[in-house]
Amino acid sequence: MTDDATSSLRDLPSVDEVMRTAAATEAAERHGRELAVAAVRRALQSAREAARGGEGVADARAVATAAATALDREARPKLRPVFNLTGTVLHTNLGRAVLAEAAIEAATRAMRQAIALEFDLDGGRRGERDNLIRDLLIELTGAQDATVVNNNAAAVLLVLNTLAKGREAIVSRGELIEIGGAFRMPEIMTRAGARLVEVGTTNRTHPRDYEEAIGPRAGLILKVHTSNYRIEGFSAEVEGRALAALAHARGVPLVNDLGSGTLIDLSAFGLAHEPTVAEAVADGADLVTFSGDKLLGGPQAGFIVGDRAMIARINRNPMKRAMRVDKIRLAAIEATLRLYRDPARLAARLPTLRHLARGQDDIAAQARRLLFAVAAAAGPRFEAEAIACASQIGSGALPQETLPSGGIAIRPRAARGRGRDVEALAAALRRLPVPVIGRVADGALVLDLRCLDDEDGFLANLRALDPAPARDKDAAS
Ligand SMILES: *Cc1c(COP(=O)(O)O)cnc(C)c1O
Repeated sequence: MTDDATSSLRDLPSVDEVMRTAAATEAAERHGRELAVAAVRRALQSAREAARGGEGVADARAVATAAATALDREARPKLRPVFNLTGTVLHTNLGRAVLAEAAIEAATRAMRQAIALEFDLDGGRRGERDNLIRDLLIELTGAQDATVVNNNAAAVLLVLNTLAKGREAIVSRGELIEIGGAFRMPEIMTRAGARLVEVGTTNRTHPRDYEEAIGPRAGLILKVHTSNYRIEGFSAEVEGRALAALAHARGVPLVNDLGSGTLIDLSAFGLAHEPTVAEAVADGADLVTFSGDKLLGGPQAGFIVGDRAMIARINRNPMKRAMRVDKIRLAAIEATLRLYRDPARLAARLPTLRHLARGQDDIAAQARRLLFAVAAAAGPRFEAEAIACASQIGSGALPQETLPSGGIAIRPRAARGRGRDVEALAAALRRLPVPVIGRVADGALVLDLRCLDDEDGFLANLRALDPAPARDKDAAS
């Protein structure tokens, strides 16, 4: 070390000096004195290393500012809100359904004070938590009875374990699906204690395939809605109604795992028809399972509706206790289901449906409104253009279906290093106070505006964009 560097190290402020600055005092108020002192020590250590390296000596204010910035960054929640401009409405990695205001209010109330969760207010005795939503589910699906667990994967596991433990579960080979996140039907069967009996072939399964497979050990027939892929061409499956008749003739229950499971006919909103829960019940399935946070637009949950005696058995299964839903979600589920009682106003109140039903013209108009601001934020190295694009529903629902949408495509003007520039822009958007998540397509970053509700918030957020490509930063350092 040179004498210069040694003497400059002596000029570094002490911890106490730094703590007396305004920036450090404020940081201590925001985060507590203990964390502030620790951050100041770390900032001083960095300043010491910088000084040894021949850089200037930081004064107390600079050290305090560095410490406060680091603390503020650390204090940011890890679970951060983002703008979902991916064009996938129910994006599993972005939390699937955005909840309705009524659900948010109900969940907040349930968090804030004691609630009658398992308490019968009429009799003053212990009650059942599922009773809070049972009647709504019965009304909306036409089923005899209903129960709820943590998610649909749990619902399927619980149904299999209750009805087919130590017995056979009969499934078409065309329906042995894998859903993201290691949910594979054959493995779920094993864990549930059921023996999988595969029938038919990948593309075709006939009634006689099921009939031949039903033996004395049959526990149930499982029909799985192949929600995340489609077998096309020379294919055949046994439809719900025929399968129910076949199963009941042999005294075996039919379980229909609908996956997404919608409570309303989506074709009324310009979408493709997805089998509704009420249709599956009416077709004779003894039990129907479906998700809370897919097309239904509520919080994560798994619903099981159907035969009263079977639901009673499911509720007596000790595994049910390990899969039960907490008060916060029950409150949100109840409020979400209530919205379905007023179908005329559903699209206005349920964000999932509102986003899915949004017309292309409306989205295109929004793209034109935002184009200038987006182009300005991206800077002169990029060009921005309002485009037509296609959104997806996501979460495996209606996989073949795309929704005509609109958005803004941002492209680098220079051909050289285009891929890297697009990635750098995408990264800069992810670094915004509210990260903006788009998708990269054809050498452009596409912001699909279908799910953009808060236009003003988006514009304010965009002002913090620093789109300098990584290349320039590399060159500068
Ligand atoms: C999504 C899905 C599941 C799993 O539901 P989660 O609510 O994500 O646990 C099960 N079965 C089918 C057919 C699905 O589409």
